[in-house]
Amino acid sequence: SDTFGIHVTETTECTLCHFKYPSHRFTRFFQMVPFELWRESWQRSGGQSAPEELLKGTYSRELRQCQKCSKEADVGFEVRHTLEGSKGPPGCFALLVQWLAGAASSADIGVVTHLMPLTMDLSMVVSNAAPGTIYRLRCMICLYGAHFITIAFNPAVFQWVQYDDAKVTPLGGWDGVVDKLKKGRFQPEVCFYEMVPSALLPEEYY
Ligand SMILES: [Zn+2]
Repeated sequence: SDTFGIHVTETTECTLCHFKYPSHRFTRFFQMVPFELWRESWQRSGGQSAPEELLKGTYSRELRQCQKCSKEADVGFEVRHTLEGSKGPPGCFALLVQWLAGAASSADIGVVTHLMPLTMDLSMVVSNAAPGTIYRLRCMICLYGAHFITIAFNPAVFQWVQYDDAKVTPLGGWDGVVDKLKKGRFQPEVCFYEMVPSALLPEEYY
């Protein structure tokens, strides 16, 4: 499939009384991932959860009023995403990291590079996707101050490459990318994933 964005049905259910808001269908082009919640769910898991579970946990909780049991105060709702079977999984999608205001520290950037999966199984993030629907990280748009750079895996040279205006710098393997981001305090903002062709072996991904 050449499509961009995940076609889902979203259901939102009160964790106290199980009231459900009407579900709706839409295309998730960007999966918003608030950095603080992401780090929290990682710390709570004691480092034991799969990256996909941490991602899912980060955006499966929502605080809002419940029209059945809590019209005044916000209560917890569980948000579930189910892939629309008729449309199938997309060719690519993107994670959008929502950072706190101000520049991120090298340590926080290190946390994100640790939590951001290089490969992920879509079936562990949304319901109704076939197990083994694997995506790999291919490209990141990163920000330092008001300056954007792009880091992408270039299969022609089989390594990660940094594109900074007209300057092109090879970075080698993923460790080289992490090093670059932490030293330059480049915050990954938009991370693009593409579906891995099923014929490809894991050692051929990067
Ligand atoms: Zn309720």
